[in-house]
Amino acid sequence: MHTILIVEDEPVLLETLEYNLKREGYRVLTAADGWSAVEVFRREPPDLVILDVMLPDIDGFEVCRILRRESTVPILMLTARTDEVDKVVGLEVGADDYVTKPFSMRELLARVKALLRRERMLREELTAERAEGRERLVFGDLVIDDASRTVYLRGEPVPLKPKEYDLLLFLARHRGMVLSRELILERVWGWDFIGGSRTVDVHVRWLREKLEDNPANPTRIVTVRGVGYRFEG
Ligand code: CA
Repeated sequence: MHTILIVEDEPVLLETLEYNLKREGYRVLTAADGWSAVEVFRREPPDLVILDVMLPDIDGFEVCRILRRESTVPILMLTARTDEVDKVVGLEVGADDYVTKPFSMRELLARVKALLRRERMLREELTAERAEGRERLVFGDLVIDDASRTVYLRGEPVPLKPKEYDLLLFLARHRGMVLSRELILERVWGWDFIGGSRTVDVHVRWLREKLEDNPANPTRIVTVRGVGYRFEG
């Protein structure tokens, strides 16, 4: 049984979400403000977090940043305004998906299911990789240690956000192959991810800033004009 943490300060919405998720067989934890959410999360780590943006103390963006520093748990954000969407998936905060209020319960439940399924697939893929003993990818002075999800450049660990790491690992596992933005989006973010291919470009830029000697003239992750990217090593 999956446990879901709902963070929402509107009592009626909180209750409705709780009722519907329980009916689907999920175990539910709740928090009505940002700091209690962090507290509940640390005490009893859930399998997924549904997180409202507007909260009475710290907002959902801040909560998301805090949780991201500690965990790769899937986070689904509830936004009230479309102009918040860029920030949410601008992955500046690191949410996995969002729905805009008002939303249909059916849509929300579908998103929850999709995120949990994606998480399970990623875990299974990882388990398979480990079983095959491919935990460590070495490209000269760049080392990806998948067992610890740590990347080393010239022996120094490089701090990467979870999605940056997932993207790098995906690229590295397909070294030399031309990968379209669409394929990358589907495999790294999931087929149901709503953000556009700009998301891929933004993450590639961040990776280049951290991994390339000259980010303006990259040699590790090269652009294939009109298509996508190719990892050279
Ligand atoms: Ca709210």
